[in-house]
Amino acid sequence: MAIKKKEKGQLIVLSGPSGVGKSTVIAELLGQRDNIYFSVSYTTRQPRVGEQDGVNYNFVSREEFERMIAANELLEYAEYVNHYYGTSLKAIQDRLDAGIDVLLDIEVQGAAKVRERCPQALFIFIIPPSFEELSRRLHNRNTDSEDVIAGRLEKARTEFQEIPKYDFLVINDKVSNAVHEIESILTAAECRVENRKQMLAQFS
Ligand code: 5GP
Repeated sequence: MAIKKKEKGQLIVLSGPSGVGKSTVIAELLGQRDNIYFSVSYTTRQPRVGEQDGVNYNFVSREEFERMIAANELLEYAEYVNHYYGTSLKAIQDRLDAGIDVLLDIEVQGAAKVRERCPQALFIFIIPPSFEELSRRLHNRNTDSEDVIAGRLEKARTEFQEIPKYDFLVINDKVSNAVHEIESILTAAECRVENRKQMLAQFS
């Protein structure tokens, strides 16, 4: 018997410091897994080289972002190193209702808001193997000035304090290992009895 699609998608929150390699891990994960949608955030920061509007982010002005806040269009938003970042409520709600999992790549303040509004979400934090490695990766990216990198490293230290509030900790020493760990978490969550109620009906 074919397993029916889920009635409701799983909301997955992935946080981790800038430079940890989240985008690479996410791209790999999306390539391997079906039925999962990456929520493209809105931001007021400038695109980096190679980033595309509507793919990596929806790049908007501060005015437009503030309009979205006032109109209650965001599930959550935060100010991070002088720029706004936020998640469109409608884009994710429609997918979850259609039984599609939704992955959010958001920082810790935004994750705290999602924890209040959607406590059933899965909260995953991803770390580098060491602080030195994080600094090395930020420098190797060659996209940000020394000042911006220093700000991001400083921010990372405060973000690490929030790790105990998350459900799972993934170490990105190697992309394939991190993807495998996240895959395992998502598969385990799918096997929860409460997520398999439809299947159970035939055995009662
Ligand atoms: P970056 O500028 O390096 O792309 O992202 C900076 C930080 O913003 C990252 O930690 C990323 O997870 C976070 N971020 C991206 N989109 C959102 C969002 O929609 N909401 C929140 N709260 N954080 C976000």
